Amino acid sequence: MNKIFWLFVWLTLSILVTTGGNTAALQETVIREIAFTIDDLPVNYMTDQGVAGWEKVTSKLLISLEKNNVPAIGFVNLGKLYDKNGRLDNRRLALLKRWLDAGFELGNHTFSHLDLHKTSLAEFTQDLLKGEGILRNLCKDHGRDLAFFRHPLLHTGLDLETKNGLEQFLMNHGYRIAPVTMDNSEWIYARAYDIANGKADIGLKKRIATAYLDYMERVFAYYEDQSRTLFGREVKQVLLIHANTLNSEYLGDLARLLKTRGYTFISLAKALEDEAYMSLDRYTGTGGITWLHRWALTQGKKGDFFKGEPEVDEFVNAVYQGKY
Ligand SMILES: [Zn+2]
Repeated sequence: MNKIFWLFVWLTLSILVTTGGNTAALQETVIREIAFTIDDLPVNYMTDQGVAGWEKVTSKLLISLEKNNVPAIGFVNLGKLYDKNGRLDNRRLALLKRWLDAGFELGNHTFSHLDLHKTSLAEFTQDLLKGEGILRNLCKDHGRDLAFFRHPLLHTGLDLETKNGLEQFLMNHGYRIAPVTMDNSEWIYARAYDIANGKADIGLKKRIATAYLDYMERVFAYYEDQSRTLFGREVKQVLLIHANTLNSEYLGDLARLLKTRGYTFISLAKALEDEAYMSLDRYTGTGGITWLHRWALTQGKKGDFFKGEPEVDEFVNAVYQGKY
């Protein structure tokens, strides 16, 4: 009897301890990791297209990335390295070297930022390889591989033949596709910011920047939720932003915002170690959408699943459209 009693006490205590322990463990094991991918290098659209402006944007971006220990990868449009006479501009090429010198990785984002949905696969792949040797050698000189490719506009093909054809081509040329899980309309905020910058409207710039950070916070929360709904956990996320003036001035704030949400920053290769990226993707729609939604659509998810995607602030859209 005594033995049975103590066995009962022991079991009860074990259950209590285990349950309590699990709750604590559960709280501790919500690990959030994210890779930064930065598109349209050397620099995305800005009102002042001069190389001096590009140098400023590059410097500030790199300083912010280094300060916050973000191991980013930048995706290059090689066509931007050439001047209007078609000559390779060494000052622009030097900007890419600075990314590599600072220890960051570079990837291919095509020569001309072609839209696969408006181009034949043959023309697209020709453009993808144009100038590729320059980028490959640059990476090699810095002990890096040119390992990743990012689709312009995240357009991956309107039919499976094109989509699979490009995937095969990329594999044959030693590239891995760089997916995106946290897609967003940061580029609209960035354009609006450039417009406000052009007007030297400091008040409007500040308002756009504040709205940008609030918007991105909504984006993070939305995709964390989407990930939990689809996978029952938060996958290692891949964020897409662009090399622009807005991020050159606010990337530090963006990184801090993510740190507050419990994120650590990882490389793209590390993010892709998550088995979520092995999920089947048979999406061939017109939209350049997040891979989380491609996987969901492939699984047959409908309507409600996609609800609640954050929208761009109205006044930012107005500035962007020149109606402000
Ligand atoms: Zn792009």
